[in-house]
Amino acid sequence: MIIMVINSGSSSLKYQLFDMGRGAVIAKGLCERIGIDGLLNQKVPGKENINREISMPNHEVAMRVVIDSLISSEHGVLKSLQDITAVGHRVAHGGDVFTESVLITAEVLDTIRSMIPLAPLHNPAAIMGIEACSKVLGEHIPQVAVFDTAFHQTIPQYSYTYALPHELCEKHRIRRYGFHGTSHKYVASIAAEEIGVPLEQLRVITCHLGNGSSIAAVKNGKSIDTSMGFTPLEGLPMGTRSGAIDPAILPFLMLQENMDAQQIDALLNKQSGMMGMSGVSPDLRDIEEQSEKGNARAQIAIDVLCYHIKKYLGAYTFAMGGLDAIVFTAGIGENSTLIRESALAGLEGLGIVLDLERNRECADDARLISSINSRVKIFVIPTNEELVIARDTQKRI
Ligand code: ADP
Repeated sequence: MIIMVINSGSSSLKYQLFDMGRGAVIAKGLCERIGIDGLLNQKVPGKENINREISMPNHEVAMRVVIDSLISSEHGVLKSLQDITAVGHRVAHGGDVFTESVLITAEVLDTIRSMIPLAPLHNPAAIMGIEACSKVLGEHIPQVAVFDTAFHQTIPQYSYTYALPHELCEKHRIRRYGFHGTSHKYVASIAAEEIGVPLEQLRVITCHLGNGSSIAAVKNGKSIDTSMGFTPLEGLPMGTRSGAIDPAILPFLMLQENMDAQQIDALLNKQSGMMGMSGVSPDLRDIEEQSEKGNARAQIAIDVLCYHIKKYLGAYTFAMGGLDAIVFTAGIGENSTLIRESALAGLEGLGIVLDLERNRECADDARLISSINSRVKIFVIPTNEELVIARDTQKRI
């Protein structure tokens, strides 16, 4: 069975083809600059890569380009588009309706559409991807939506409720939703496999640290809290996002700097976080390099990030009444020896002991980085959201 996984952005479309029988990715690619000009990059093992400019005025044309590339005898891997059994889509926001992945029907699509006010950039992009697949692969191709928010729907009311007037929250559906759910769920389940104890019997903190970052408390297999909130802005400082700040800073800046809501939104989402603090770059590799050279602002940005990770570890350990494992994943979590070491420093008395040597090793698979004396197991586990989407799609069709 061949399943296609799509992650559709406003001007991009990422895809992977899974051969579920072999459990292998047989093709992957990316369309960029859709609606501007168009650029396709495709990799198929054993075939020549494609890297070329092709006009893509919209997602439907991009999808036709993708299919043509996948069935091309020179670069592709399929005989015809009928080889694709189903398509799985990453959808950012399922609101409080979708608690798990679903087969897409006209009604489901309408519900995803009704969430647009909650995810004004992301849900329209996912809808464009779904509609493009219907047009190019045919109305009857089974399509499944896998939501970033679904895993966090188990968060209890006292944890997802903001202390704002109840009526306003009801009216605008304001509450903590959380994101990166597919990733948190996947790495928590791999950690349980590595430990050899069912996830339902473990208390795990999963740290998804990338350009966007979030931490989740996974108790007995269920998310009970997470650092991102109503939007993916809350929580940790990120590449260019501020994370949690005193909300009164917003009206203060609006008055002092004569800024409007749009400017404040851009400030918090695009000019803050690691970029804003360091003045160097949103990319942690550049910030680490500058801090080694003695750049004080780069160093403080790293210190702030690690301190916030540590605070979440503490808070979530108490929220769960204890801790069995910590998992690091995504670009920073999988690759930054420094962030893992600094965030966990000084926790030895609490049974959280890193093996400094293991922490420095690199590997493509899950690896244990805690010392044998550590009561809490610490892992680096590469995330694989596409694989979860492919598996969920197979389950739902
Ligand atoms: P996204 O949230 O866009 O999926 P990723 O999970 O790919 O992002 O994470 C990207 C971030 O990972 C980059 O900004 C970079 O700072 C960080 N990163 C990647 N490799 C390393 C590394 N070797 N050392 C430190 N940071 C790294």
